[in-house]
Amino acid sequence: MNKVLLHICCGVCAFASIERLKGEGYTVKGFFYNPNIHPSGEYEKRREVLNIVRDSTGIEIIEGGYDPREWFALCEHLKDEPEGGARCSICYRMRLKETFLLSKKLKFDYFTTTLTISPHKKSRVIFDIGSQIGGDDFLAIDFKKKDGFKRTNELARKYNVYRQNYCGCVYSLRK
Ligand code: SF4
Repeated sequence: MNKVLLHICCGVCAFASIERLKGEGYTVKGFFYNPNIHPSGEYEKRREVLNIVRDSTGIEIIEGGYDPREWFALCEHLKDEPEGGARCSICYRMRLKETFLLSKKLKFDYFTTTLTISPHKKSRVIFDIGSQIGGDDFLAIDFKKKDGFKRTNELARKYNVYRQNYCGCVYSLRK
């Protein structure tokens, strides 16, 4: 069975992404790595949702490091970029690269990300970055297709989990 390491941006986006991957026959493990999230209290809220995702889907989720200084070092100079612009491309790349490296270390066949489930994110941009990093190891799945965004919100409501109203970084919070 093909093993996929799924980068998880938040629990809400994870529900339907995991459901879809499992439905397509993949063995899934999650990887929560998001040093972009601000402030740390928000990070904790999103992290707590992972326990419900673990219980409801039965998958294991690995937690990556959380050092926002690494994110700021890469992205702060692009603070005035609009959401979906150059700052987001660097933010996606940072998280996908870490996921790819872990997938290689743990001998997974593929890696991918829940990021494509958001209607605010351009899947084509994420696909290009993922392929540049990992070539054919990157699974270019648009999780928002097949009503993925609707489905993941249904599951988030069913499990009554915290749902944030901004993407994650301090600049998206200010908007
Ligand atoms: S808006 Fe979202 S994707 Fe863009 S830089 Fe901020 S946290 Fe990252």
